[in-house]
Amino acid sequence: MSDCIFCQIIAGQIPSVKVYEDERILAFRDVNPAAPVHVLFIPKRHFANLGEMTPADQELLGHLLNVIGREAPGLGLADGYRVVSNCGEPAGQTVGHMHFHVLGGRDLLWPPG
Ligand code: AMP
Repeated sequence: MSDCIFCQIIAGQIPSVKVYEDERILAFRDVNPAAPVHVLFIPKRHFANLGEMTPADQELLGHLLNVIGREAPGLGLADGYRVVSNCGEPAGQTVGHMHFHVLGGRDLLWPPG
């Protein structure tokens, strides 16, 4: 989608600090980090959020989570981290391209605000 910021990052039209990439997913540092380590993991295919993904996307979703689990220790998150996906504006979603926030590097409060 040409008006989607994250699609433009995938296309290389907007710069990002990439930390992981394969044929299906990309991970890059959040431009406005909410924790010392704050990385966004996104599918290269555009989905507005988790609600747009179907059973046909199950393998892609599993791949995303599996890569997060494998990459997190190397990102400085060996001691622990949080994985969050905001779905919809009331939940705080500001970019309409499905993504997982991966946050850590400090003690995280629960419940979130
Ligand atoms: P959300 O509010 O859950 O939709 O998360 C969107 C995230 O994308 C926010 O944490 C933003 O700081 C981040 N963000 C927005 N634009 C960029 C960008 N160009 N590069 C990296 N992160 C971005």
